[in-house]
Amino acid sequence: MGEKLLEVKNLSTYFYTDEGVVYALDDVSFDLDRGEALGIVGESGSGKSVTALSIIRLVQSPPGKIVAGEVLLDGDNLLTKSKAEMRHIRGEKISMIFQEPMTALNPVFTVGHQIMESILIHQHKTKKEAREQAIEMLRLVGIPAPEKRVDDYPHQMSGGMRQRVMIAIALCCNPQLLICDEPTTALDVTIQAQILELIRDIRERLGTSVILITHDLGVVAQVTDKVIIMYAGKVMEYGTVRQIFTDPLHPYTAALMRSIPVIGKQTERLNVIRGMVPSLSKRPDGCLFHPRCDEACELCRTVRPDLINLPDGRQVRCHKYTDKWEEKSHD
Ligand code: SF4
Repeated sequence: MGEKLLEVKNLSTYFYTDEGVVYALDDVSFDLDRGEALGIVGESGSGKSVTALSIIRLVQSPPGKIVAGEVLLDGDNLLTKSKAEMRHIRGEKISMIFQEPMTALNPVFTVGHQIMESILIHQHKTKKEAREQAIEMLRLVGIPAPEKRVDDYPHQMSGGMRQRVMIAIALCCNPQLLICDEPTTALDVTIQAQILELIRDIRERLGTSVILITHDLGVVAQVTDKVIIMYAGKVMEYGTVRQIFTDPLHPYTAALMRSIPVIGKQTERLNVIRGMVPSLSKRPDGCLFHPRCDEACELCRTVRPDLINLPDGRQVRCHKYTDKWEEKSHD
């Protein structure tokens, strides 16, 4: 077992809206070792992005509020830190990259200026040293001729190059944890593959721990060691990539797997998961997935399943893996 970097314990984040309380994240726990990569997978509204925003304390408040739990980084609870302390932790210890690099980069400054800004805020360096480091960072993320491109404005770069610049900004203070929120969704397929390769390469070269948030199970398979499957603000299944891909236990995970298109295997229709993620302010009774689950029984409709720890280290939230289901489903 590796050395733990991040421990998220019983984290709950709610949004207090006119329509009622939105249970965006409900009692979520997981941990991450140094140098390890974890994928968090789910549809829109599953709570995966709120998980990331809660870890780095960027949940918009109001209406959002972290109502319970702990986020321990090196044993230090981030939820007790002041805003000023969190500003230092973001950038120096944890960095995040977002889906759309064009909106995250400032169009009126060169990319070099924006990388240097981050270096000058967090490190005691002269402008000359910061510029040299900015060029090195561009080289690290695979930008050709970085000495020239450092003076480009974001609009002079392609979408893939801009995402590389975002990764350079995120890495310039050598963070322990890099959180990537749908980092390839806005990019062409071939560029997606290059960015995933870059994230994998950085993790290997720098030993950075990575949390990769995505709706695409295929993406986590390429980059991460472990996977959390989230649904309606809760962890539904947790396991290694191999376990999840070879033997998905939860009916939702199995449905996600069936919805991945397979090249060369033509079916009449793409397998989609019927129904929609429930409203998080009006959650169904029982298992949150039961309105969409083909295996639901009476117990599923009335009793919320707990997350069950299995002997092989996996976790699954489904009555199928309790004795009660056996009795009820055959009534
Ligand atoms: Fe389906 Fe029941 Fe398992 Fe929920 S608890 S996933 S409804 S079988």
